[in-house]
Amino acid sequence: MPRIVYLNGHYVPYDEAKIPVMDRGFLFGDGIYEVTAVLDGKLLDNAPHLARLDRSLKEIGIPNPHTAAEWTTRQTELMRRNDFEEGLVYIEVTRGVYERDFLCPENLKPTVVMFTQPKTLRDHPLAKPGAAVITVPDLRWKRRDIKSVSLLAQVLAKQAARAANAAEAWMVEDGQVTEGASSTAFIIAHDGRILTRQLSTAVLAGVTRGAVLKLAEENNLRLELASFSVADALAAREVFYTSASTLVMPVISIDGQRVGDGRPGPLTKKLRQLYLSMAVNA
Ligand code: PLP
Repeated sequence: MPRIVYLNGHYVPYDEAKIPVMDRGFLFGDGIYEVTAVLDGKLLDNAPHLARLDRSLKEIGIPNPHTAAEWTTRQTELMRRNDFEEGLVYIEVTRGVYERDFLCPENLKPTVVMFTQPKTLRDHPLAKPGAAVITVPDLRWKRRDIKSVSLLAQVLAKQAARAANAAEAWMVEDGQVTEGASSTAFIIAHDGRILTRQLSTAVLAGVTRGAVLKLAEENNLRLELASFSVADALAAREVFYTSASTLVMPVISIDGQRVGDGRPGPLTKKLRQLYLSMAVNA
């Protein structure tokens, strides 16, 4: 079956989907993206992903070409055409196509791209053994709440992680962990408190973060929104990160130093399980 992608209102074979050289997403990174997980052929927590897409587009002045219902119809049709059961649905909206210039007309027609990426989410190969993390300086711009396609700092952070045989890079600024290159960072203190950073322009409002906080609350687990340092994480009882592509991922080492007893912690495993059960029953 040929891979079908969505481009500007059309479902086309991957090889036929072409974007002009003058697209501003390509030239300037002038666009927004969103990624929703799919399990058992169902979009997971899609509404907050679409709300974040809408917000990010507003923040940079790109008109949202679709309502949430229209997006969902298109995502669902794309999944159907790709016989898609498990993985990620990617959306990108760029400001559009115009002769290269920092400025462009305000009424440009946004470019809209969607594709599916098969991925093992439920039985992610690192979910059982846990993931190694390294730390890198946070080199990004100051509006990380916007899900911009300008991801150079994250690409470099991920390359550094791969070179160190780690799965993720945590970015550090002013002595505190901001977030992972593509995930939200959490620690669990020895008294059982689950800590993650408060929302601000310094971090992306992770949708999986939101779901995990809600699940923790519903299960009477103790929560605290607070920044933490790498030393705090190394001294923590458990460490994990969350994202649409990893769900809840246990961390077993940071910069080569063991976290906890070097194995995925029980509360992290429980949160992953709670998240998966919620997904199945959604
Ligand atoms: N933080 C950053 C910088 C990300 O890129 C991502 C996901 O790509 C996340 C956090 C996690 O967000 P979500 O749980 O919505 O996937």
